[in-house]
Amino acid sequence: MKIGTKFIHAGTEPDPSTGAIMTPIFQTSTYVQAAPGQHKGYEYARSQNPTRSALEEAFAQIENGKYGLAFSSGVAATDAVIKLLSPGDEVITGNDMYGGTYRLFTKIFEKFGIKFHYIDMREASNIEQYVNANTKLIWIETPTNPLMNITDIAAVAAISKKNNLLLCVDNTFASPYLQNPLDLGADIVMHSATKYLGGHSDVIQGALMMNDATLREQLYFIQKSCGAVPGPQDCFLVLRGIKTLHVRMQRHCENGHAIAHFLRKHSAVDKVYWAGFEDHTNYDIAKKQMRDFGGMMSFTLKDDSIENAMRVLSSTRLFALAESLGGVESLINHPASMTHASIPREERIKNGLTDSLIRISVGIEDVEDLMEDLNRAIG
Ligand SMILES: *Cc1c(COP(=O)(O)O)cnc(C)c1O
Repeated sequence: MKIGTKFIHAGTEPDPSTGAIMTPIFQTSTYVQAAPGQHKGYEYARSQNPTRSALEEAFAQIENGKYGLAFSSGVAATDAVIKLLSPGDEVITGNDMYGGTYRLFTKIFEKFGIKFHYIDMREASNIEQYVNANTKLIWIETPTNPLMNITDIAAVAAISKKNNLLLCVDNTFASPYLQNPLDLGADIVMHSATKYLGGHSDVIQGALMMNDATLREQLYFIQKSCGAVPGPQDCFLVLRGIKTLHVRMQRHCENGHAIAHFLRKHSAVDKVYWAGFEDHTNYDIAKKQMRDFGGMMSFTLKDDSIENAMRVLSSTRLFALAESLGGVESLINHPASMTHASIPREERIKNGLTDSLIRISVGIEDVEDLMEDLNRAIG
């Protein structure tokens, strides 16, 4: 089955009691039993909900996995993966990642005795020097947020397998339309479904996808024991969002391509970070593991002052100044003070995330209007 057909039909069957083509929102906390233990597989809605089950089946299918699990946010999904570990365990992860993931690792889990190594993941061969007897997990994001660095998923998966580690890939930026890490050897895929999967900036949610039944059992146990589950209305919204993912992504990619080249030619723009440029450090890897390059990018201005960046950030009219990404509408964001404010300044700057870096999420509006908006704002 091709990708668009799969996205539309994944997880949804006509409702058996009514024939409703769209999965109903089962707004209930519990299920009546005929006698203790005599039920239809649903006992209590933290553990099971039919709207959530349909979505979790869709999650599995869109990432070519066997199992999917839904969480109340992307960070709750990440939290569940790290809870597979025990004090003393070590994680190898990238030095350029979503600020909230970095905050969860450093401010929450380091306290519980888990050690994280933040390294340059552009070269997979960097990893092995950090592997020791305590290493349990490799966590990668590719493309990274916000610098659009690319990591070779298949190469990291080979290192992970060789050393008996788990590999989890945050696939939020690419979405399953562009990249499927399980096919490349990852053990777990994580998504902030808040972004491209939901796609309409109206829901917060997270997802995990995997193939291994034991891993699924462990993560399901954490999901129901810790309780970060999404409500049925939110599950419905994401299930609906997934049905148009391929159509939206196609336009995000077209618009992204046009805007990246427009920015690069603009006389006031200095650097543009986007994996679709042939001179991007890891263009060959991006081309190999992604179907296209998407609508996320960052750029800096030739006048590199923070004032000039602030001026541009507050003068767009269509690009709304806001955190988040992946919705139908275009957004502009200042990582240093917004999405990545929880990363210490020296750390940030050392890894290339300067004070004046601007990140955009190119939406699916008419691209001429988006260019005009940026052109006016950049000046
Ligand atoms: C937004 C985001 C997250 C966190 O997801 P929430 O749904 O906001 O909790 C994690 N990773 C990446 C790459 C993100 O963009």
